[in-house]
Amino acid sequence: MSPNSKTVQLHDKRFKLSIPSDHIQAAISAMASHLKKDIGEEQPLFLGILNGSFRFASDLVSNYEGPCDVTFVKVASYEGTRTTGEVKRLIGLDENVAGRVVVVLEDIVDTGTTVEQILYDLEGRGAKRVIIATLLFKPEAYTRQLTIDHVALQVANEFLVGYGLDYDGLGRNLNDIYTLILENENSMKNIILFGPPGAGKGTQSTFLVNTFGLVHLSTGDIFRSNIKQETDLGKLAKSYMDKGELVPDDVTIQMLESEVLKHPEAKGFIFDGFPRTVAQAEALDAFLERRGTDIFRMLALDVPEEELVSRLVGRGKESGRADDQNEEIIRNRIKVYEQQTSILAQFYQAKGRFVAVDGIGSIEAISSRLEEAMKD
Ligand code: AMP
Repeated sequence: MSPNSKTVQLHDKRFKLSIPSDHIQAAISAMASHLKKDIGEEQPLFLGILNGSFRFASDLVSNYEGPCDVTFVKVASYEGTRTTGEVKRLIGLDENVAGRVVVVLEDIVDTGTTVEQILYDLEGRGAKRVIIATLLFKPEAYTRQLTIDHVALQVANEFLVGYGLDYDGLGRNLNDIYTLILENENSMKNIILFGPPGAGKGTQSTFLVNTFGLVHLSTGDIFRSNIKQETDLGKLAKSYMDKGELVPDDVTIQMLESEVLKHPEAKGFIFDGFPRTVAQAEALDAFLERRGTDIFRMLALDVPEEELVSRLVGRGKESGRADDQNEEIIRNRIKVYEQQTSILAQFYQAKGRFVAVDGIGSIEAISSRLEEAMKD
């Protein structure tokens, strides 16, 4: 049995070995000597962020040659004002950090929100210098400008446990790091529901969810919910959506991937409104391949432009959705679809995954055409 076939069960999920402990220890020992060079003769205060970093902090300071202080804190979240959103604060920090070199020890940095707020907190307490050192770093998930000073290991945007990291309380005691196995990954049926705005993708998704037990991910809906909650992502997306333009690829791809990772139980996904560019399609292919799965079919709903405009104007009157109110914006969205995204039909046609479906007729008639198009 190869070492990489090692698996563990935690609660309802299985995880496979991803980073063996000797690899972790080597990376930590290299980090300790880089840190010593960076800090020089100063006596740093190592600040371990609980709970996840307890093992990392312990092994790192054991490898650090020179006098140092070590303490542990927790990060607590509380609801800030509407404009600041969720705010995170250090709790349990009794040491005076004013004028000191503080090394923040994190187990994992993904979006970077927490570590950025820890930095502000420590700067507010008068630290002379704050160094961020993390065991794991997810470049694909990272959204901040702040440079992470020391990274022991870069990892893919996957769910990891072990060596301090937990899944619902379990797994912190494992010496290696493990990654989640998607039980259904080889039998997953992932579908792209393709078509211009107003083609009926939302309506038909409900049918596909009920019939095939898939999880529906609509990038438009996810953006709209972020706008409603006034998140940073929502603010950014709004400026593009208001004009009927596409939100930049990097933001959209990262958001979509993190939504997929929230559903490890899924039997498959309906991607609605994604991909809309070749870059997004390539990123989706690569992401699914890393997870041992692929796109089963692209189902493209065919509806002529005049029919779309009249459907969307009607929908705008009922729903009040901002980008459905104005005929000029509607036509621009259809134009954007035709210019930038029809090329995707060719992309999936070349892979033999493309099926066009007539999108004119009753909801039931279109549903049964889709069901037919789903057959192997
Ligand atoms: P939809 O609800 O799918 O029509 O999307 C509404 C708006 O959200 C679009 O006009 C874009 O501004 C944005 N959007 C949705 N999906 C994507 C995507 N895959 N790439 C870029 N922008 C998107």
